[in-house]
Amino acid sequence: MTYSVIPTPSSTQTPAAFPASIPLPAPVAGSIPNPAPVAGAGFAAFNLAAPLTRALAEENYTRPTPIQLATIPVAMSGRDVVGIAQTGTGKTAAFALPILHRLAGDRRRVLPGETRVLVLSPTRELSGQILDSFRAYGRHLRPAAALAIGGVPIHGQRRAVAHGIEILVATPGRLLDLVDCRALRLDRVEVLVLDEADRMLDMGFIRDIRRIVALTPPSRQTLFFSATMPREIADLAGQMLRDPARVAVTPVASTAERVSQRVIHVERAAKPQTLAGLLEAAPQRLTLVFTRTKHGADKVVRYLNRGGLAAEAIHGNKSQNQRERVLAGFRAGRIKTLVATDIAARGIDVDGIGLVVNYDLPNIPESYVHRIGRTARAGATGEAVSLCSGEERAFLRDIEKLIRQNIPASGRPQVAPAGAHPQAVPAGARPYQGPPRGNGRPSRGGFHRGQRQGEGRRQGGGQGYRGRQASF
Ligand code: AMP
Repeated sequence: MTYSVIPTPSSTQTPAAFPASIPLPAPVAGSIPNPAPVAGAGFAAFNLAAPLTRALAEENYTRPTPIQLATIPVAMSGRDVVGIAQTGTGKTAAFALPILHRLAGDRRRVLPGETRVLVLSPTRELSGQILDSFRAYGRHLRPAAALAIGGVPIHGQRRAVAHGIEILVATPGRLLDLVDCRALRLDRVEVLVLDEADRMLDMGFIRDIRRIVALTPPSRQTLFFSATMPREIADLAGQMLRDPARVAVTPVASTAERVSQRVIHVERAAKPQTLAGLLEAAPQRLTLVFTRTKHGADKVVRYLNRGGLAAEAIHGNKSQNQRERVLAGFRAGRIKTLVATDIAARGIDVDGIGLVVNYDLPNIPESYVHRIGRTARAGATGEAVSLCSGEERAFLRDIEKLIRQNIPASGRPQVAPAGAHPQAVPAGARPYQGPPRGNGRPSRGGFHRGQRQGEGRRQGGGQGYRGRQASF
């Protein structure tokens, strides 16, 4: 089977079609997703419904990104699509626009308790952002659209689907809650989207997804997106999709090209002051600070606040309301500094982040690439600063190996305390224990209960991003 790989003008890779029987190449380490538009091709060529073209003009989208260019025409033709694309490539519009176009041409009545379009995403945040995108592109169509996510009372969501709905964006657990309490049926779903399928697998949702897919009719159109294609995801796609068009976007620039990176060697105890210094140097810059643990995020925020620096934390212990409020404040620029754990930052799509600080270096090198990719979005440039203590130097070496470059450093490299192991987890961090056993289902409702959805997953798992790639 072959993927159409869409080259981009500044690609550092040589794109090629991948023959059926060889594994897909591993995702390119150290690359930053980039929605760089393709020169010469405008949205007009797609013949999207006029209300959509109008909305795109209002969004100042003039040129489709590579994934949009590849996906929109095939999806508009009704064909299934499997896409390898990361967040930041413009993939949301790639599936949202054909769906909205379909709805624009056929506003049929939806039966009570049914949805025409179902979008599954791994996290509440990402689900919210997908719904926002549907609302933005569909602002002149006003589709009946709602969220089904955990962490908020289910009653409102039951009400939202009671009269039938056109677009439902959901995390798998809450969606099944709605099905199980007979508030929702999926037997008339016309389009099913799976977004970030690899993350859903990571987070233990695979059984839920299989169950959900089985509840939808075989006649549906399926649009399937994943940043990577491990064997389980390839198998799932193989079972779910009918003769899909396969698209993959090659990353367009390496981290070195887009993000200016540096490391400050510093004792662990001096990290708070160092961070405060970085923030004070550019108080107007939107800054995302990563800590390894929720507790660590709160501690950093308290330290900054005590010193008169406004900052907020976002992590799985915060209520949905708090998280939404903080995220909205950050997006609007009212909150300049956001301190987050990797999991809470997943899917946070905020343009204009000028600085990413790795307060704790991630022990999973790929997380470094994801983190620094939060800056330099949509073609902008950004800065990433990593604070490296003695016990984190092994993590730094792993990162440099992965991105194949040495990150310029200042400060004196610290010596790891006696007994520190390269994979040592700083105090307070609890390694992820793997998905729950029992019936194999994660706890419902996102990461506010029991299982911390995927937080810390991939630690030494060996089956993560670069683990097992498969063709299908
Ligand atoms: P996504 O990969 O869907 O999360 O999109 C990444 C970012 O690119 C979002 O901020 C989108 O609003 C933006 N974006 C998507 N498509 C385009 C486009 N064709 N032109 C300009 N910006 C875009």
